[in-house]
Amino acid sequence: MRDSEGEKLKSGGSTPLAALSFEDPSAFRVKSFRELIRALGVFKFCSFPMLVNNSGKLISLTRSLLGKRGFSLILRPTVYAQFVAGETEGEIAVAMEKMSSLGLRPMLAVPIEEDLGESIGEHRYNENLEAMLECVRLSCSNALTKDPMMQLKMTALISPELCVKLTSLLSEQQYDLDLLVRAMDGELISFPGLTETENAHFLCGLQRLNKVGEASVMKVRVLVDAEYTYMNPALSLVTMAMMKKFNQKEAWIWNTYQCYLKESRSLLLDGINHSVNQSFCLGVKLVRGAYMDKERKLANQESRPDPIHQSWEHTNDSYNGSLDIMLDLISQHPQRYRLIVATHNEESVRHAASRMAELGLDKKSGSVCFGQLLGMCDHVSLTLGQQGYPIYKSMPYGSVDDTVPYLVRRAQENRTVLQGIRKERDLLRLELRRRLRMPLGSPRSHLQVGALAVSVSVPMLPIDVPEWNGKGGPGILA
Ligand SMILES: Cc1cc2nc3c(=O)[nH]c(=O)nc-3n(C[C@H](O)[C@H](O)[C@H](O)COP(=O)(O)OP(=O)(O)OC[C@H]3O[C@@H](n4cnc5c(N)ncnc54)[C@H](O)[C@@H]3O)c2cc1C
Repeated sequence: MRDSEGEKLKSGGSTPLAALSFEDPSAFRVKSFRELIRALGVFKFCSFPMLVNNSGKLISLTRSLLGKRGFSLILRPTVYAQFVAGETEGEIAVAMEKMSSLGLRPMLAVPIEEDLGESIGEHRYNENLEAMLECVRLSCSNALTKDPMMQLKMTALISPELCVKLTSLLSEQQYDLDLLVRAMDGELISFPGLTETENAHFLCGLQRLNKVGEASVMKVRVLVDAEYTYMNPALSLVTMAMMKKFNQKEAWIWNTYQCYLKESRSLLLDGINHSVNQSFCLGVKLVRGAYMDKERKLANQESRPDPIHQSWEHTNDSYNGSLDIMLDLISQHPQRYRLIVATHNEESVRHAASRMAELGLDKKSGSVCFGQLLGMCDHVSLTLGQQGYPIYKSMPYGSVDDTVPYLVRRAQENRTVLQGIRKERDLLRLELRRRLRMPLGSPRSHLQVGALAVSVSVPMLPIDVPEWNGKGGPGILA
């Protein structure tokens, strides 16, 4: 099957692959001049592994040298504007509207996450709950966004320590999903294996998640992120319980499957089996995975086998194989399963589009959609949007201070993508050159991009910059 698909990939044939070439710099015509320059600058920075690997230290140093204000002045118009939606409700609303005007859908994300040793008190978890509920509200505040989605980090609402403890308990015993659902509803359940304090925190955490579920059901789809292998089984258990409660008719709560894990195929099949046995709808976010270096380092330190596939090619096979499983299922039960193909990888995107065409899946039905991170691989996102695929951009928001640790982690986690971002840089450069060659005063106030007419006087990203009018561009470049 893979071979025949491979042939089709090459030939184009009756599949939509010819349209999904991702080679057309005209996708970037919707960007303002400053956005092109900014993206080129940020990607250039990210192409130096030494800078990316040491970005945490670099940022601390810059901050101590420049102070909070000076640091913010540098970061806000550059890296922050490239990858973050904004800070205030107004800024976020503008960013969301611009996304919609480009044929893309915003997927808001509160960049709160914790690792071991970073646990906070119950009151801080309650504050995080307020932030999540605010995210639900913001996600459906833009009337233009069809079928809104948001991301949720479970470790913002339940301590990582408890998730690790639950994970180790799960290797010895099963937890009944009904028990978790009853605890979400407020019943004082005593979970086996937990101390009194741990049990009390778990009950509070489940009730916090219940509040997010109740606020979002029928309004916003909540995509629970996958984190580290030493806590993922606990995150999946709780997510499954949320699905059992809220996904009876439709998939409102989704789980994430990291295909860089050797066990990813069996985890996905387990999830599917659970959804069948427990009669709930399953929403799947399919990713390669963001924590490769740390997972490998830990496994090495603890003399455990490496949980990650041995090479990028193996991860690709795993990703595309899981894609096939989900697409086949969706073609049989479109009401019960939903999928977001969350990747920047052009080959996987084409693979998904090709298989959708073969299975006769309607791209407008919404049961399959695509996702990329804000500020990354816009040539892929814009092309998909122009071709009528539902496409979401993951948009973190918050203050510079709140988002910097997230940005550093993202840059490091995405090193492999960022280094491969050369293609996007080439396309950005082509678009820049095209504009610089344009005669002065040529009419550029309205551009037609595919079927999408976009006013380029409205920049794509939150910072409001007047559109370059053809005068002074070379000066900026010089
Ligand atoms: C909307 C969205 C939501 C996401 N949510 C999550 C989440 O909840 N949890 C999570 O972990 N990730 C998540 N990710 C994925 C992550 O943030 C990266 O974007 C993703 O791993 C990069 O893979 P790619 O498919 O885009 O790109 P590619 O460039 O095709 O692949 C890069 C990835 O391949 C894998 N890889 C690279 N080298 C090797 C190797 N030598 N051996 C094995 N594997 C290798 C790594 O996973 C690496 O990140 C999300 C991504 C998106 C777009």
